[in-house]
Amino acid sequence: MTTHVIVGAGLAGAKAAQTLREEGFDGDLVLIGAERERPYERPPLSKDYLQGKSEREKIFVHPPGWYGKHDVDLRLGVSATRLALDEHVVELSDGTRQPYDKLLLATGATPRRLPGPGLTLRSVEDSETLRDGLARGGRVVIVGGGWIGLEVAAAARLAGCEVTVVEPEPLPLARVLGAEVGAVFAALHREQGVVLRLGVGVASVSDHGVRLASGETVEADLVVVGIGAAPNVELARTAGLEVASGIVCDASLRTSHPDVYAAGDVAEPYHPLYGRKLRVEHWANALNGGPAAARAMLGREVVYDRLPYFFTDQYTLGMEFTGDTTGYDEVVFEGSVPEREFVVRWSRDGRMVAGMNVNIWDGVEELQNRIRADLSRS
Ligand code: FAD
Ligand code: NAP
Repeated sequence: MTTHVIVGAGLAGAKAAQTLREEGFDGDLVLIGAERERPYERPPLSKDYLQGKSEREKIFVHPPGWYGKHDVDLRLGVSATRLALDEHVVELSDGTRQPYDKLLLATGATPRRLPGPGLTLRSVEDSETLRDGLARGGRVVIVGGGWIGLEVAAAARLAGCEVTVVEPEPLPLARVLGAEVGAVFAALHREQGVVLRLGVGVASVSDHGVRLASGETVEADLVVVGIGAAPNVELARTAGLEVASGIVCDASLRTSHPDVYAAGDVAEPYHPLYGRKLRVEHWANALNGGPAAARAMLGREVVYDRLPYFFTDQYTLGMEFTGDTTGYDEVVFEGSVPEREFVVRWSRDGRMVAGMNVNIWDGVEELQNRIRADLSRS
């Protein structure tokens, strides 16, 4: 009997398991997850679920009975600790040596931390702890003006907290969206009463707040740290797989070992349209990358060339972004920025590389078609 093993029971792993069964794989299928919860989606954890607006049951990828019904051996609360590529065996924290024919690594990422008591946000338990903290009100300092930082700032303001965001760059989200759009998010949060401390780092975190690199102290009842996530590559690295910022894969999501694949936040596949490796830490990449890797594991022809896509909701601003702004030399806005209903297009050397819709829906496909056409032009 053929055995396929998936390490990492997040969105990428769960969707890969589903695809293996849908595509007719009838061998043994083992899904190993370090967390105790069955696979769930993380976007609500910094939005509706954090704000107490949606039910816990809605976060899960599949209903509880799905795994048994589809003969998926879901092992929760168990970590893969070592991978022996030559033997085709993965060793688990419960002492099991699990053999495999094909292996998928979908181990996701872990929040970066600062020394001290700041809360980070990755798991459903983190979200519940944070929700309780926000419900107590008071002063919240958020370290990092990225996605977690800004979405938590919105939830904290909606909960009635006083909120300060500390970000070392001159504008939030500028590394991903550029200064022009970073300024839109800065204005949005200031309008909502968030104090932005930009262009300054954090020297230390204590129970009473944070000390800035400038020496000043910002007092807080609660400190949240959202300073990025590090992909969980250790299993791959120690096994001898090629690792750069993530696990290096070809466009079929196959790693440097022919029987091992990677998907989701941890994977760094070659992107044929951009002509370089591209690691994407967003929901749609787990949703689509898991199934793509599963098909490749079954020997199907796979070229994973989806454009990066993600979304955010902050107060009344909802947006969808697609593409990659790296190296852009032109940015064009269409629509009304003051009314926050607009489209942004980023270009490099006359080719569109990324686009974003703010409070305008159904436009992503058109943006993607244009980016694809431009990137494919020789
Ligand atoms: P993960 O979801 O990290 O799952 C990996 C799983 O593998 C984890 O459960 C981990 O415990 C397990 N694991 C790791 N190592 C091992 C091991 N050795 N053995 C066994 N199991 C292991 N993206 C968007 O596009 N839009 C959003 O609005 C958005 N909101 C987000 C909000 C929050 C709070 C967070 C944290 C992320 C958000 N994201 C969002 C990003 C998105 O959730 C991730 O890109 C997605 O979860 C990646 O899925 P994954 O399956 O690759 O990894
Ligand atoms: P992130 O988006 O990478 O943002 C981290 C922010 O923290 C950046 O602005 C970064 O600045 C800043 N930073 C880094 N080191 C710092 C330090 N020492 N002190 C202060 N600020 C520091 O990561 P995140 O917001 O923590 O999110 C974690 C993961 O969840 C990511 O994978 C993210 O994609 C995902 N997520 C996605 C969404 C979404 O798509 N809507 C929502 C929530 C979470 P620099 O830019 O200068 O490095």
